[in-house]
Amino acid sequence: MEVRINRGVLSLAEGDITTQDTDAIVNAANKGLRGGGGVDGAIHRAGGKRILDECIKIGGCETGEAVITTGGNLKAKYVIHTVGPVYRDGLHNEPKLLENAYWNSLKVAAENGLKSIAFPSISTGAYGYPLEQAAEIAVNTAISYLKEHADIGLIRFVLFGQHALDVYEKKLSHLS
Ligand code: ADP
Repeated sequence: MEVRINRGVLSLAEGDITTQDTDAIVNAANKGLRGGGGVDGAIHRAGGKRILDECIKIGGCETGEAVITTGGNLKAKYVIHTVGPVYRDGLHNEPKLLENAYWNSLKVAAENGLKSIAFPSISTGAYGYPLEQAAEIAVNTAISYLKEHADIGLIRFVLFGQHALDVYEKKLSHLS
């Protein structure tokens, strides 16, 4: 599914983020930036040691913030590492922090002159964010960014599994 917004395109696909050919892919990292399970582990495995070396130099990343490294052996030239919130009960600023994670990743991409970016569904694995709520924030934030900026031409969400894709597609058809 693909929607045009202002000068950009918002697209949804099912698949593996590590194979994407966008300028950057986004990693759902943890604050220590030392790799981990889920999408984080997959990106470091596919991208090789140079990504971790740069992460170690950077040192860490606060929840809702984003940093950039090389893409190493990936097709994408860069990895933008962002830290989504750990979901507790929704009353600990989780929605704002998740929005910040998307927004700041897009800002870092634009600051580095990148034109296309692929996101996984941040916080909805080990961090426990309910998928429907997280999808709404993800899609809304991408739409707002494209409405306000003309620098990034493509934002793609790469969802792991048909169910996640269905949830995101439903949100996008309601929100766009
Ligand atoms: P978090 O700690 O932010 O919750 P996870 O990596 O545990 O991050 O999960 C985030 C989402 O990424 C989950 O929905 C999971 O299904 C998905 N995911 C895991 N591996 C991949 C991958 N290779 N490509 C795209 N999405 C993935």
